[in-house]
Amino acid sequence: MNKELKCPVCSGDVESGAPFCKHCGWELKVYATAQSAYYVQEQQRLKVAQAFVAAEQTAARALQKRLNDTDRLLEAVRQESDGQKLRLEELTQQLGQARQELTQTEAQLATVNGTLEDTRRQLLDTTAEAEQARREADDLRRQLQQAAAAGGLTGVVCLKNLNTEALCFIPVLDGRHTYGAAPDSGAHHQIRMRLRGHDMPQLMFAVWRTDGRMALSDLSGRLRHGGSPLPASGLYMDGNTTVVFDDVLEIRVAQV
Ligand SMILES: [Zn+2]
Repeated sequence: MNKELKCPVCSGDVESGAPFCKHCGWELKVYATAQSAYYVQEQQRLKVAQAFVAAEQTAARALQKRLNDTDRLLEAVRQESDGQKLRLEELTQQLGQARQELTQTEAQLATVNGTLEDTRRQLLDTTAEAEQARREADDLRRQLQQAAAAGGLTGVVCLKNLNTEALCFIPVLDGRHTYGAAPDSGAHHQIRMRLRGHDMPQLMFAVWRTDGRMALSDLSGRLRHGGSPLPASGLYMDGNTTVVFDDVLEIRVAQV
């Protein structure tokens, strides 16, 4: 069994009988006498080798220290970089959130604008409707005044839209007159009617006074009294007598 020895130069382990140190390459020798001139010379060679190896080891330690310093620096840089990456993620998240909030605000703004626009339009519609009603009332008043002044006014036709409750009044003059929404149908004495909220292209009837009462006859074939068509000769319109056109318009006639 080989005995473990130490190299005199690098202090590395060497096997007994080995010709060189496997660590530093020092030639291992056995000297016959410790006092020979050769041995003294060898001692000098040993010192040189020891100094050389010591310098190498010092340089290696310095290099190791620098490597350690570099590792620490790299670790610090890595940590700082991780921190910045985290911060960047936070900022990106905040930016995304802000962008989402902006989108929501824009959508809300668009909704509010749409509501405002609707309201404005409704207000305009209402104003236009009120203006139209005022014009119609003025028109009626003028017609009634004219008829009364001429002495020919015998009654008033009242049209009511059963869906919207809108009303329309038309003066009835002496004689037999046709009333309709289509003045180009060729009927004599036709008086044009308008009723807000309802289109009346097919409505046509005649009104006249006979035997001291008001009478009405259907020219459209679509008027009903108590659910039945009107008699061909006409229907007396006394007080609360009503006829209905297409279940939408109610017609009454009042005598003056
Ligand atoms: Zn050695």
